[in-house]
Amino acid sequence: MTGRESGPARCTHWDGAAGRHCGARASVRPYLTGFRCPAHTPAALAGRPEPQPGPGWPAAAWATPSPQSASAVIDHRAIASGKRRSSPTTYRAAQQAVARKDPAA
Ligand SMILES: [Zn+2]
Repeated sequence: MTGRESGPARCTHWDGAAGRHCGARASVRPYLTGFRCPAHTPAALAGRPEPQPGPGWPAAAWATPSPQSASAVIDHRAIASGKRRSSPTTYRAAQQAVARKDPAA
């Protein structure tokens, strides 16, 4: 049992007590330590649960661009406050839009 054998992969876990490799063929998957059956995966040998596939990056990750509407709201407020440059017409329109949203102010 040296080198690669032809046919389906076998579990290469070394059973020291029995003096042989596990050799199971069912549900064998490749790991950094070699091919392993479900009973001899690195997580199983360490007594931990198998890692589950995750959802991936969160939707609000830093790489996700902000929606156009969110930046438009910020722009209206900035223009109305006078912090963002704009034409007098745009400035007045932004002030009216902000005043409509917040009648108490
Ligand atoms: Zn095995």
